[in-house]
Amino acid sequence: MLGNFTYCNPTKLYFGKDALENLHGELQKYGKKIVLVYGGGSIKKNGIYDDVVKILQDEGKDVAEIAGVMPNPTIHKLREGIDIARKHGVDLILAVGGGSVIDYAKALAVSVHCDEDPWDKYFIRFEEPSCDIVPVGDVLTMVGTGSEMNAGSVITYPEKKLKIGHVFADESVMPRFSIMNPVYTMTLPKYQMIAGIYDIFNHICEQYFSGEDDNTSDYLAEGLMRNVIEASRKAVVDPTDYEARSNLMWDATWALNTLIAKGKSTDWMVHMLGQAVGACTNATHGMTLSAVSLPYYRFIMKDGLPKFVRFAKAVWNVDADGMSDEEIAAAGLERMKTWMQELGLVLHIKELGATEDMLDDLVNGTLILDGGYRVLTKDEIRDIFRQAM
Ligand code: NAP
Ligand code: FE
Repeated sequence: MLGNFTYCNPTKLYFGKDALENLHGELQKYGKKIVLVYGGGSIKKNGIYDDVVKILQDEGKDVAEIAGVMPNPTIHKLREGIDIARKHGVDLILAVGGGSVIDYAKALAVSVHCDEDPWDKYFIRFEEPSCDIVPVGDVLTMVGTGSEMNAGSVITYPEKKLKIGHVFADESVMPRFSIMNPVYTMTLPKYQMIAGIYDIFNHICEQYFSGEDDNTSDYLAEGLMRNVIEASRKAVVDPTDYEARSNLMWDATWALNTLIAKGKSTDWMVHMLGQAVGACTNATHGMTLSAVSLPYYRFIMKDGLPKFVRFAKAVWNVDADGMSDEEIAAAGLERMKTWMQELGLVLHIKELGATEDMLDDLVNGTLILDGGYRVLTKDEIRDIFRQAM
């Protein structure tokens, strides 16, 4: 049965090869002072930076830049950006990049007009903003996180070995607009592309592997998962396949724009385990998830057996004839593993730089959530990380 919920998603999306043209109209809605946020320079190589700057100039904007936002953005980089945005004044934050840049822009948006340090307020105490929120818009260049249409922001404190995400309840933290041209994603290195693909898939799993009721959200999730599998197989063979890349872009948005979580409980433990790996190794987000997923799902399979059986049949077409439920569920996870290997995903955290002597930090850095099929103990988390090594 669907539980009670509120659904509001205010982000306006412009999708397709000419999507950037709409930046003109969007910029006209805001004041002159723009803070342009981007990453390590990929947008300068592929020309997106020049195209965006030209539009900003045409619209007569006064622009300050925050460059060099790193994958897994840090609290230190955020504090630096807050100073830049305060000095410049800011009517709109324009993020051009992937999830890291957009997450960073949102964290900046809730911090510019706030006196308290954002780490304690938003990532330890999980408070909502008590100050004016600066509007954020974005030009998306990497597919995976869904950050273009949600209120999530993940920030890392490297010295504390903590990587923490806050999904703000206030929907005005969501981007006001997102510009989504699938062609932009074609310059992504293969490693980043497949990491993003797994991020999409896992966002869907996190919302699917929870509850045993019959609800619309799970059927939507199955459709999305089937398309991610189909499109990813095409995209790895031909990264310039527009149909595959555009499907993946759209899948990613729907995977985490809150829709498929409505009316049901959600798990999110793969992300908690993966973020602990990210905090200790600074590895690519999607790869941290792929490396912990199979050990985790094998561990909880018995607790959520009916859903794992459904997953095997509806998503992986497992022919269940003559098999026990446990065999069907295990066969589904085997097919998932084959697909992950086909893509070239990382299946062991050692390959990401994790070592046995990090086990304490990994266990202590994992937030334990209670929405899934089993509430893990610290010992169980340690076992899962050992399996994932
Ligand atoms: P990302 O960290 O934003 O980008 C990864 C790499 O891809 C960067 O080196 C980036 O280079 C490069 N890149 C991006 N677009 C490119 C392009 N078109 N061509 C060539 N290179 C390109 O990756 P992401 O997976 O999108 O974001 C990961 C972060 O989001 C993590 O911190 C993760 O925890 C968080 N996350 C957020 C949510 C959410 O709901 N908000 C959900 C899941 C994960 P540049 O540095 O040069 O741009
Ligand atoms: Fe993710």
